[in-house]
Amino acid sequence: MKKPILTLEKAREIIKTYPTPFYVYDEKAIRQNIREYRDAWSWNKGFKEYFAVKANPNPVLIKILQEEGCGTDCSSYTELMLSEALGFKNKDIFFSSNETPAAEFKYAKKLGARINLDDFTHIKFLEECAGLPEEICLRFNPGDNFKISTAIMDHPEDAKYGFTFQQLVDGFKILKSKGVKRFGIHSFLASNCLNENYYPSLAGLLFKVAVELKESHGVEVSFFNLSGGIGIPYRPEDKKADVYKISAGVKKAYEEILLPAGMKDIQICTELGRYITGPYGELVVTAIHEKNIYKNYIGVDACAVNLMRPAMYRAYHHVSVLGKETAPADRIYDVVGSLCENNDKFAIDRSLPKINIGDILVLHDAGAHGYAMGYNYNGKLKCAELLLKENGDVELIRRKETPQDYFATIDFLNVFKK
Ligand SMILES: *Cc1c(COP(=O)(O)O)cnc(C)c1O
Repeated sequence: MKKPILTLEKAREIIKTYPTPFYVYDEKAIRQNIREYRDAWSWNKGFKEYFAVKANPNPVLIKILQEEGCGTDCSSYTELMLSEALGFKNKDIFFSSNETPAAEFKYAKKLGARINLDDFTHIKFLEECAGLPEEICLRFNPGDNFKISTAIMDHPEDAKYGFTFQQLVDGFKILKSKGVKRFGIHSFLASNCLNENYYPSLAGLLFKVAVELKESHGVEVSFFNLSGGIGIPYRPEDKKADVYKISAGVKKAYEEILLPAGMKDIQICTELGRYITGPYGELVVTAIHEKNIYKNYIGVDACAVNLMRPAMYRAYHHVSVLGKETAPADRIYDVVGSLCENNDKFAIDRSLPKINIGDILVLHDAGAHGYAMGYNYNGKLKCAELLLKENGDVELIRRKETPQDYFATIDFLNVFKK
């Protein structure tokens, strides 16, 4: 059974100040999880997790992760701005972008970020717009040489990202000839993967590539970025990935492939998003309508603008009804939002206890790729974000949008001004 972050009593108290819908994040659980994650990698001296800002760009949460030793993984101008504002610089920032505008490369270079190139042609592009840094990482796409199946991105040969093997060889040689001193390899081949073998197989593949680069092409790689992709148990029957097992699998590949080739003191990096904050954030909503036609619907006061994953990928988010956690789930509902889009359904044919108007519902595991993916379709506004602190206090960490926010970009029309 999934336990909501808030009890019914606590939620009712919060709602007096902050009406639903809102996101709530659990600071204590976020800190515990990242500590465990980093501990699992303690065998690798230089290990660093760069939190994927796109998964949850709330500065208060990123500050917490910074205190726990994380850097940031950015792929846009504003993500770099956020990192700079929080005091991240140099090797604290990994810039893993694609189809990158010149202004973003310039900014990343100015911050001293570790730059990860997505394509062979970006070597020349970066050199011309910002100059080459001393250290560069290249993103590898092995094509159909890598098989592991997940729902979101499972066929590297169909993915738009990365260099082919030959481009990687040529790219590193060119960079070396131009005076670049340190090299890294990055690859991201699966998303939301609960298979504990994903990082170990990916690492094995990248380590072999590095050995070949060293032995056949004279290029020495000094760090690897295994990127994101560790999944979270969205469904009650899913099992949490064991990060100690995952890390031990990577260590084994390190010892079997890199050490015999004389490659030691190699840094392992990751840039997880989902695994770091996903389970520790929830969208809290209120049931405002019940509708019975060919199916039974519960209408809530949030919509896909607040949490898009179900509409976008038909993703499963577990639903709890506060105060009815142990009641029999003897009804079947679609839990829906208010968009004029028939895919705006948080849950379809879901077994739930009887829901009354005014009941508070929790959409679990929305702490990553939740608020962040929001948009403003139908003129709907994004909700507030709250932090449940370690001492039990609740802090507003992002206010909800107002109509003035929505109209801010057409401020030359005075009609929407207050
Ligand atoms: C999305 C993304 C991540 C994070 O992915 P998760 O599935 O949240 O772990 C990391 N790196 C890059 C380049 C990404 O695009």
